[in-house]
Amino acid sequence: MPGQYQLEIIDHRQVAPGHFELTLPQQGELARAEPGQFVSVLVRAPESFDPLLRRPLSIYRTAEDRFSLLYRVVGRGTRRLSQFRAGEALDCVGPLGRGFTYRDLSPGAKVVLVGGGVGVPPLVFLSQKLLQIGIVPEVFAGYASSEHVVGLGAWREAGLEPVVSTDDGSLGYRGYVTQVFAERLAQGSVERVYACGPRPMLAEVAALAGRYGVDCQVAMEEWMACGIGVCLSCVTKVQEGGANRWARVCREGPVFDARKVVWQGGS
Ligand SMILES: Cc1cc2nc3c(=O)[nH]c(=O)nc-3n(C[C@H](O)[C@H](O)[C@H](O)COP(=O)(O)OP(=O)(O)OC[C@H]3O[C@@H](n4cnc5c(N)ncnc54)[C@H](O)[C@@H]3O)c2cc1C
Repeated sequence: MPGQYQLEIIDHRQVAPGHFELTLPQQGELARAEPGQFVSVLVRAPESFDPLLRRPLSIYRTAEDRFSLLYRVVGRGTRRLSQFRAGEALDCVGPLGRGFTYRDLSPGAKVVLVGGGVGVPPLVFLSQKLLQIGIVPEVFAGYASSEHVVGLGAWREAGLEPVVSTDDGSLGYRGYVTQVFAERLAQGSVERVYACGPRPMLAEVAALAGRYGVDCQVAMEEWMACGIGVCLSCVTKVQEGGANRWARVCREGPVFDARKVVWQGGS
């Protein structure tokens, strides 16, 4: 069950141009969050209603007494969030949504993670959980350029060495992360793929996994308002039992079986 918490910011720092890591104390149900779940954060100034809506952010990494969020400043809400300082209280609701399914995997399972830009955070948290159950994931991380690289340090601290690509070739392979991921899939022996990133990237990852018959779960990031399944602003089209229907990303997702998502005209 999600709860509403006033959390005193432990640390808040810029980790790349326009990207921040925000560290908060674990409290209540948040300590039971699963990778892929998110919190929705109230970013307005005291006694102001602007911005009115909470902003959804994935859980990035956790420790016994704390967890953190990693976000990119894209608009009013995240700009306002970036102005919060350590010691200030932040109003968070969570954990929200359905996370990745991974406890069914056996130790040693061959798992691949594919992250794009600020789609990386839930995959770092997932890596932590996979390592705890004896699974060492292969990680593919794509960014627009070396300036936008986030999450690599966290993966390396966990003993993982991600394959990196940048669209402009400023770090790692030049091109989309889906290209290097496709080469890996072609080598075989992948049991499951987990992905988070921009929708076109997810659609491509889903298509590739489907072509090789590999299980794939995607964490979607639709614009959302309430975050608790009421307002229907975050729907995406899914296919079930031969029919299409709208699914609420905040409640039924954000993680979906990639085969169920209707990628063309589905949002
Ligand atoms: C479940 C979920 C988890 C998320 N996790 C993260 C995360 O870990 N780190 C992170 O940096 N961002 C994450 N996002 C995206 C983040 O919520 C948005 O970037 C943020 O709400 C934008 O708020 P804003 O007021 O700064 O921008 P706004 O002024 O509201 O929007 C500015 C622009 O940002 C883009 N945008 C806005 N909302 C979204 C959205 N939900 N998804 C994609 N693009 C959006 C649009 O292009 C928009 O025009 C997540 C979104 C969802 C739904």
